[in-house]
Amino acid sequence: MYDRDALLAATDLRSLADDLLGPGHGRGRSRMWPCPNPNHAQTGRTPPVSIFTSRRGEQRWRCHGCGDGGTAIDLVLACHGSTIRDAMAYLAARAGHHERPCQPPVSKPIRRPAPTREAAGCYDLDGLNRYVDECAERLWHPEATRLRHWLTHTRGLPAEVLARNRIGADLGPRRQPRPDGMPRASGVVLPVITARRATYAQIRIPNPRPDWSRYLNPSGKLAANPRLARIRPPAVQHPEIIITEGMIDALTAATAGYRTVALLSAAYADEAAAVALAKLPHPLVIALDPDQAGQAAAQQLAALLETRGRQPVVLHLSAGDLNDMMRTSRNWHGTLDRHLNEARASPDRGGSTCAFP
Ligand SMILES: [Zn+2]
Repeated sequence: MYDRDALLAATDLRSLADDLLGPGHGRGRSRMWPCPNPNHAQTGRTPPVSIFTSRRGEQRWRCHGCGDGGTAIDLVLACHGSTIRDAMAYLAARAGHHERPCQPPVSKPIRRPAPTREAAGCYDLDGLNRYVDECAERLWHPEATRLRHWLTHTRGLPAEVLARNRIGADLGPRRQPRPDGMPRASGVVLPVITARRATYAQIRIPNPRPDWSRYLNPSGKLAANPRLARIRPPAVQHPEIIITEGMIDALTAATAGYRTVALLSAAYADEAAAVALAKLPHPLVIALDPDQAGQAAAQQLAALLETRGRQPVVLHLSAGDLNDMMRTSRNWHGTLDRHLNEARASPDRGGSTCAFP
C-alpha cells in the first residue's frame, strides 16, 4: 500500500537513473543514460535515454531508440523485472534511506557506516536508526496521509526536502515499534542526522491539545540532546548556512536551496552553539523567530560569533517565522534572496526587516 504520487514526488529520477543505469553521460538536464530494455541493442556512443518533466509535473524517462519510458516506477520495473508493488517498496525504502546506496528490492540488511565519534551521545544507535528508517518509509504510505499533508500542505514543505532529511511519520506506539526512551506518541518524526546516522529524533505533534507541548524529545537514556541539527537541501544553491529556530524552519530554508542548522530551542543560542557554528566554513545567517526570546537569542548568538571572528548576517523577521514567510511568499527563493541581500548591505550587517509580500 503506497501513495504513488507522493512516492514519485519523493524520488529524483536522475539520481535513480544514475543508480540503476550507471552514471549519466553529459551534464545537468542534458544528461543521457543507456536504455534498460534488453531487446534494444545499443551501439552508438551517445546513450539514448533522457529525462524530462511531464505536464503533470512528474519526472519521466524516455528512450529515443526504442520508445521505452515512463515514471520512476517503470524504470525500476524495467531494471529489476519485479512487480509494481515491489518497485514501489523499493522507491519507498530509497526515499527513507536517501543517503545510502540503493539496495535491490529484496529486503537485505542495510549496511551502515560504523558509528563515529560524532554519533556518540546516542545509546541505542541501531534501535533509533531502525525507528527513523521505518517512520521515513511510512510517511509515503496512505495511512500517514494526515501527517504527510500537515508537512506538505499546512507547512508547505516539498517531498524532496522531506525525503532528503529522512523526515518520518510515527503512527503511535500500537503500530510503530520504537527504542526505549523514544516518546510514545504519534506525530511527525524529525531526526538529527550526524555522519549519515540518526543520533536523535524529535516528534512534532501537528495539532497538539493546548496543554501539550508541540515537540516531544527522547529521554536522556536513549540520546543526549544535540541542541543543534543540520538539515540539507536536495541541491545546495547558496554558499550561506542559515541558522534557524527549530527543524521546521530549517526545512523551510532548505526548500530554497540553503544548508541550514536548527537550534532545537532559542535557549541553546549559547557559548557551546557559537563554538560549533564558528567552525563551519560558510558565511552564517541568523534567522530566528521575531518574538522576544528569538530576537534576544539572535543578538546573543551574533555577539558570541563576533568574539570568534565571525560576522554573521542577522535577518529580523517582521512577523511570524521563516515558515510563515514561505507560505505567504509567491517566490520563496527570490524573497529569501532579496532579504539576505538587504541584510548584507545594511550598515550593521543586520537590521533588515523581512516584510510580508
Ligand atoms: Zn531503448
